[in-house]
Amino acid sequence: MVNNYSRVLVWFRRDLRLTDNTALNAAISESAEIIPVYILSDWKNSHLWTGPKRQKFLCECLESLSKNIESLGGKFIIRQGDPVRELLDLCQETSADAIYLNHDVDPHGKKVESDLRQASPLPIHGFQDAALHSPEEVIKPDGTPYRVYTPFSKRWLPLPKPAPSGRPESIPTPKDIRSLPLPSLATWNLKESPSWQLPKGGEKAARDRLKSAISKRITNYDQTRDIPSHPGTSRLSQDLRWGTLSIREVYQCASKLESLQYLKELAWREFYFQILHHFPEVLHLEFNPDWRGLPWLDPDDKLLAWQTGKTGFPIIDAGIRELLQTGFMHNRVRMIVAMFLTKDLHLDWRLGEQFFAQHLLDGEIASNNGGWQWSAGTGADAAPYFRIQNPWSQTKRFDPQGKYIKTWVPELKKISPNLFQAPPADHQPLTPDYPFPIVDHSEERKRTLDIFKHHKEQKS
Ligand SMILES: Cc1cc2nc3c(=O)[nH]c(=O)nc-3n(C[C@H](O)[C@H](O)[C@H](O)COP(=O)(O)OP(=O)(O)OC[C@H]3O[C@@H](n4cnc5c(N)ncnc54)[C@H](O)[C@@H]3O)c2cc1C
Repeated sequence: MVNNYSRVLVWFRRDLRLTDNTALNAAISESAEIIPVYILSDWKNSHLWTGPKRQKFLCECLESLSKNIESLGGKFIIRQGDPVRELLDLCQETSADAIYLNHDVDPHGKKVESDLRQASPLPIHGFQDAALHSPEEVIKPDGTPYRVYTPFSKRWLPLPKPAPSGRPESIPTPKDIRSLPLPSLATWNLKESPSWQLPKGGEKAARDRLKSAISKRITNYDQTRDIPSHPGTSRLSQDLRWGTLSIREVYQCASKLESLQYLKELAWREFYFQILHHFPEVLHLEFNPDWRGLPWLDPDDKLLAWQTGKTGFPIIDAGIRELLQTGFMHNRVRMIVAMFLTKDLHLDWRLGEQFFAQHLLDGEIASNNGGWQWSAGTGADAAPYFRIQNPWSQTKRFDPQGKYIKTWVPELKKISPNLFQAPPADHQPLTPDYPFPIVDHSEERKRTLDIFKHHKEQKS
């Protein structure tokens, strides 16, 4: 049914773009006037699931969206506080007829939408936008959800994919609606660090990255995607997370390159979306019940060494320092770093998950949880517990010249890369200002095998 409204709200959340925005396009075609709105959260100082780098990126996305809306004759309205109350107040102030939104994939976003539906006297029009296929669309022939990636991807890959739609020509916004100024880090009492090297946020920057990914970065994806020193992955994850690019457009551009592997990565993203949708307990519990109640160690100064990139394992420290400075970590290194926390330090994957969520610009609850549970061996289709990556041999394989390590750990610039591939033979640190490895990988590997085996025996 096509509606014929005078004035509607479009509530932006994780879809911070004008191009191919499903809810926005629907609203424009069904209403004479549009009130585009973003509701800022009102926590201060710290948050378990986000942090200053992510909020900085969000500020840039909102600034860019605001400019783009103005260039089409509209005005972006910013409010702050409880989203349900703020949206309903705004509807009342402006005599809006309905609210348009794209569905969120996170439990928190879903809960807010459901609260809004209950509280709102006005119709709420919700759209599937963040994924190519909704979790309900890709299910097993017997009607139950997939738990294993390969059969999921075999079903997901051949399904016809929705095509992108265009960009609106104008956004007619009613005049004189009160708005807060665009946010800055000070809005949440956060501070910028001079050491940051963050990608720019916003639709224009994201579109530039898409062009560069398609013309250069992923033209040889299958060969280069595992080399962390090489620009051989798309680096679009933050844009898919904040919606500065539409997944339909990314899929359409990428499918012309004929890299099945790249499309399979997009399928991993939707695999984890559907895991979180059908099994929301993964946010608190191990997906595989066999591994619930594993005896993780209490966090101590080894956690701090891991979080600050001072473990004495060059590949681990390079990964964490890349994350701290850029809000990104290469996928291969994410796996090594995550396995190290869980299998070498025996620390709970939830500690790593939270740390990543605070620092990754692409922090995506579903993929982050999926990646951590995969690495810990507890997740859907996870690495089996006895498959423990050795950080030294992973370095030899994926950073043989030490290029990645030397980029992020300047103390090691003058050290021969061979020395990054095994613990120091002379039992001395590689340089006076770089720590000696905080654990012995082969000892900790044995300990992990014992812990998992013992836990399994106790459960059976
Ligand atoms: C412990 C751990 C935590 C992770 N946390 C996140 C996270 O919070 N957010 C996130 O987007 N990805 C996460 N990943 C997956 C992956 O590391 C990133 O998606 C990837 O590094 C992003 O870089 P890219 O855009 O260059 O990826 P590309 O290699 O170019 O891949 C293209 C796109 O596919 C998706 N993708 C690729 N690999 C995966 C994967 N394994 N799982 C889910 N989606 C994938 C991403 O959207 C990515 O942008 C995590 C992986 C691990 C091991």
